[in-house]
Amino acid sequence: ATAREAIERLSRVVPDFPTPGITFRDLTPVFADGAALHAVTDALVAPFAGGFDVIAGVEARGFVLAASAAYATGHGVVMIRKPGKLPRAVLTEDYDLEYGSTTLEVHPDELERGARVLLIDDVLATGGTLAASCSLIERSGWVVAGISVVLELSELAGTTRLPGRRVHSLVTL
Ligand code: IMP
Repeated sequence: ATAREAIERLSRVVPDFPTPGITFRDLTPVFADGAALHAVTDALVAPFAGGFDVIAGVEARGFVLAASAAYATGHGVVMIRKPGKLPRAVLTEDYDLEYGSTTLEVHPDELERGARVLLIDDVLATGGTLAASCSLIERSGWVVAGISVVLELSELAGTTRLPGRRVHSLVTL
């Protein structure tokens, strides 16, 4: 099965999660299916093959995909984490969410300057999370080689927060 078929077959819609009025797309059944995870992983990295040195994942669902993609391609993982989780000196970005506001952090000494980073997450909604992640990558002295997501919610126009970025979405709703 193709990645797209697996995503359409296995993903679930959860009304009013995490707060009333939000329609949550749940990809955990895609992660739980071995063939689906394999196909999704390959499809996330294929357009960027040969063009990146490392994969960054956003806590927490992005970690699953980033680790899978890193193992598949022989690269390492940089973890973009929620506040207070990384033990050494961090760079911090605050940003607004569809539901609330939050912060992301990275260890800026994890890679050499100029390292080409493929950024992976599960869902592109308003784009705030990935825009903040790009900012952390560039403030660390690295280059955003591309952005790959499983699902893009186009009505939230997240790509407008990512101008000039190469964004690859396996399924766009
Ligand atoms: P954004 O910052 O609004 O683009 O939201 C993206 C972040 O929130 C990602 O890290 C997603 O994991 C999470 N997110 C937002 N909406 C959904 C959803 O419907 N399903 C799963 N994750 C979501």
